[in-house]
Amino acid sequence: MELKIRKGDQVQIITGRSEEKGKRGEVIRVLPDENRVVVQGINVRTKHQKQVQAKGRTVNPGLVRFEAPVHISNVMLVCKKCNKPTRVSVQRDGEKVQRVCKNCNALLDE
Ligand SMILES: [Zn+2]
Repeated sequence: MELKIRKGDQVQIITGRSEEKGKRGEVIRVLPDENRVVVQGINVRTKHQKQVQAKGRTVNPGLVRFEAPVHISNVMLVCKKCNKPTRVSVQRDGEKVQRVCKNCNALLDE
């Protein structure tokens, strides 16, 4: 299945942990096999990283912040034109695939 959300899109969190709900961010990675996206500033976790040996030096990054992937069903694309979270329909024009905002009918890939 082709995901309707792509890298660089603005999305809004519509479900999930309450503190994230309603937040918006830019998609920085798409994981099509898992139906998940990584959204900048959303679902931020921290992990302790052990010391690692890199080229003979010991590197200790300590606490590392990273964005954990969010399931695609928890986010909605934000339309650039009407600035609302929206469902997307896909129109095929020959080889070209065009995403359309179901809210205002704007073409999203212009
Ligand atoms: Zn729209």
